[in-house]
Amino acid sequence: MTDSPRIHLGSLMRTQDDAHAEGELTELTYEQGGLPQTLRFAEPAWYDVDVNSLGSQEMYLQGTFEPTLIMECARCLREVHVPLELKLGTLMRYDPSADQPYLEEAESGEEVLVFGDPNLDLSAYLAETTVLAAPLSVLHDPACKGLCQVCGQDLNEGTCEHMAQVPVEEIDDDLGIPEGSAHAKQNPFASLKDLDVPEE
Ligand SMILES: [Zn+2]
Ligand SMILES: [Zn+2]
Repeated sequence: MTDSPRIHLGSLMRTQDDAHAEGELTELTYEQGGLPQTLRFAEPAWYDVDVNSLGSQEMYLQGTFEPTLIMECARCLREVHVPLELKLGTLMRYDPSADQPYLEEAESGEEVLVFGDPNLDLSAYLAETTVLAAPLSVLHDPACKGLCQVCGQDLNEGTCEHMAQVPVEEIDDDLGIPEGSAHAKQNPFASLKDLDVPEE
């Protein structure tokens, strides 16, 4: 259990002093569409954030965040560790009417972090930055065989009875069978193709 990452901006807003926060996070909990979400990290993730006043209600946040995000293999669901090195650099605006901090697109196209509480919780900001930088999906191994869609057997670890119904050469032949052909319909592994995620 980690405390949420907070930076105290009250003094900055009164005196124009810079503000600084740093610490480690093992997870980030935040809300998205009213639902609690959690990002888990494989090891404590260091964050280091500086905020400088730009005058009136505007500030600039810069820093670094280096989480090793825990994701699931898109085919077999085992844990995959995805190390990220994030450079933070975001305009901020104080707006007392903002209940929760949120990112807004300025006319310049730049994102602006709008917040209403000078004791700013950076959870949602760091989570969104992490999610945007992370790959949409990962494979634990480019050759991951996935799970049997009938019984859930992890085909990386061994075969199951459904496996025995197809000749071995067809198992490795992912792309050789035309989609929708009579052959593909008889092939119990045809449905496994739905699990395949395009590789980037
Ligand atoms: Zn896998
Ligand atoms: Zn099976």
